[in-house]
Amino acid sequence: MHQLTLAEIARGLADKKFSSEELTKALLARITQLDPQLNSFISLTEDLALTQAKAADARRANGESGALLGAPIAHKDLFCTQGIRTSCGSKMLDNFKAPYDATVVAKLAAAGAVTLGKTNMDEFAMGSANESSYYGAVKNPWNLEHVPGGSSGGSAAAVAARLLPAATGTDTGGSIRQPAALTNLTGVKPTYGRVSRWGMIAYASSLDQGGPLARTAEDCAILLQGMAGFDPNDSTSIDEPVPDYSASLNGSLQGLRIGVPKEYFSAGLDPRIAELIHNSVKELEKLGAVVKEISLPNMQHAIPAYYVIAPAEASSNLSRFDGVRFGYRCENPVNLIDLYKRSRGEGFGPEVQRRIMVGAYALSAGYYDAYYLKAQKIRRLIKNDFMAAFNEVDIILGPTTPNPAWKLGAKNSDPVAAYLEDVYTITANLAGLPGLSMPAGFVDGLPVGVQLLAPYFQEGRLLNVAHQYQLNTDWHTRTPTGF
Ligand code: GLN
Repeated sequence: MHQLTLAEIARGLADKKFSSEELTKALLARITQLDPQLNSFISLTEDLALTQAKAADARRANGESGALLGAPIAHKDLFCTQGIRTSCGSKMLDNFKAPYDATVVAKLAAAGAVTLGKTNMDEFAMGSANESSYYGAVKNPWNLEHVPGGSSGGSAAAVAARLLPAATGTDTGGSIRQPAALTNLTGVKPTYGRVSRWGMIAYASSLDQGGPLARTAEDCAILLQGMAGFDPNDSTSIDEPVPDYSASLNGSLQGLRIGVPKEYFSAGLDPRIAELIHNSVKELEKLGAVVKEISLPNMQHAIPAYYVIAPAEASSNLSRFDGVRFGYRCENPVNLIDLYKRSRGEGFGPEVQRRIMVGAYALSAGYYDAYYLKAQKIRRLIKNDFMAAFNEVDIILGPTTPNPAWKLGAKNSDPVAAYLEDVYTITANLAGLPGLSMPAGFVDGLPVGVQLLAPYFQEGRLLNVAHQYQLNTDWHTRTPTGF
């Protein structure tokens, strides 16, 4: 049963081949047995899962249907879940039980999805390796000595290891697409404003977006359908109708114009990945797509701009964790300043503290113009590059990451080396565009992802291209040995 996709589960439940309760019990047992190798879960929510599964079975018995009704999923542990620990991968929130459900959690629950647990993540979603979690690193099921990517590494490792069919993630600079690439999954970062951020603990508010991680584009369409939509509680949510993503999967690719940016193939890209990306282009050409070289001239400035803007917003967002209102409080503070200093010093890990320091510096009087304002101007140039490119092509294609998954610990002493891994993903966040990563082959037994980017609100086009590619390739069907 653990090999079933969301689409297959929906058919199996509709045909009464198994119940949601049976499926939920089987997957919970599998998680208990196999997850100690991976560390992909922070909390298991067995009681909630069984209650939701029984309720879904009852709804089906009453004649209700729906692709998510009775489908087991998990949430990245930064989506608030009422009465359940929502840790954000941090000691700071280790004791925090959210008083309400995030909109994404509530919407998926209403659609009948069953929450098996909360997945491990980089602390406050800062990272590309899932090594900065207070709960320990997550391992990549394709090779337990390697990282699964981050910051949604727990969701990715769990889905890749067939512990469950799909999970939610969030993507501020690549945290859905990059772990999807490194674990052989399909993952979608929606258009900024497509998925509500209400109840999603903020890292960098102008960049954060929730989205699905699954094994196929077909399943991403199902999960995104349940997540997307306008939310009056999120002032950056956009009131734009949500199309039927599953209906968009079957469009023909005849005449689809694919742009491949020349800047993507510079030094720094593993040549074996470059070859797999070219192979995926050839595959799409066979399906009728037309390929064109394009240019994104300001791409080289994306990493410096992102690593000013994201920490700046983080330093502001994380100021609420002061030892007074949420989470961790130090022992025996001697006065208020001591309470702030020690609660934050003891509650936040080193990467979070580094980002807060960088962000506070970039925002400080005298440096604001030189760093933050400059970075915002670069952001506009990057957006303009994309707008010009999308006048000529329908989608942009390239690698998701410059390298396959690295060994645990390999980049720990050099944070900037890890930041450089985000080179292909962060531009979509800076511009607010939707992106998707899908499996494109293997290097040394480790998965490689190809990234597709589309104009605003064209998630359906991304899912369409990925689904057609997956009908003609089998990379996404490969299972890691031992799982
Ligand atoms: N690796 C990037 C960072 O550390 C992106 C993380 C994310 O998308 N949450 O900021």
